[in-house]
Amino acid sequence: MRCFFYRSRRRFVDYKIKNIVTLVVLVCLCATPVFSFQKKIALPFDDLPCLESYSSLEKVIQINQSIINTLKKHSIKSVVFVNEQKIHYRGETESRIKILEEWVDNGHELGNHTVSHKDASKISMEEFKGEVRGGEETIGSIMRSRGKNLRFFRYPYLVKGRNFNQIKQTERFLRGRKYIIAGATLDSLDWKFNAKYRQAAAQYGEDSPQIEEIKEAFLAHVQRELSRVSKRKKNEIFLLHACTLTSVTIGRVIDLLKRNGYSFCTLEEALKDCVLIREIEH
Ligand SMILES: [Zn+2]
Repeated sequence: MRCFFYRSRRRFVDYKIKNIVTLVVLVCLCATPVFSFQKKIALPFDDLPCLESYSSLEKVIQINQSIINTLKKHSIKSVVFVNEQKIHYRGETESRIKILEEWVDNGHELGNHTVSHKDASKISMEEFKGEVRGGEETIGSIMRSRGKNLRFFRYPYLVKGRNFNQIKQTERFLRGRKYIIAGATLDSLDWKFNAKYRQAAAQYGEDSPQIEEIKEAFLAHVQRELSRVSKRKKNEIFLLHACTLTSVTIGRVIDLLKRNGYSFCTLEEALKDCVLIREIEH
């Protein structure tokens, strides 16, 4: 009798354990990425060494260092797009080259953003070719000195040409030089908020409530952009610039992206599956 009681109690316990195991397995399966799309985003930066031509060398170094340090903290690898003309500025060439070397030495890549940031739709094909070749001079030699190839090109203003024919020609020329053409999928408009930031900083100071308002407005715009594409199951490429506003908010932008479910990937990976903006106002 005792034995029977023991056996049925044992069967009951086994049955309960089976149910619990099944439940745990189901919960684990539902939580695996197989059932959910992992949102990925790449964070390249444009117009290096610095978007702002009026900033002092000290400020330019500070802007770049702040972005590099924040990316390092989050283990994010980037591609930064350089304008050759911005390297040779106010006799600061040597220091500006050091800034670019710092990026490469921190595991990032330099990309070609032409010599002088001209809109491809407003220049001849010959001039475009000169802008691309000239854009390779300094960054090409920095990359080669570190055993790396120059791989990425980004059109200024993301404009590829004035009509179908010219677009085909510029693309063919870039492919002939083995470039990966890097577009963007989301526009941070940081350059626009940065202009307001610089104006308010000069008028009220960097610690003023006006500056805080501009930072908040910028982050609200970023959130709106992310909400707009929240259902899109594609990789994203965020258009950002090396400028004051971005350097002081990049940590908060990264936190915002994480809160929206994004993890970070390389530009190369993002480009494999994304919906590019064809042309946006700069
Ligand atoms: Zn640009």
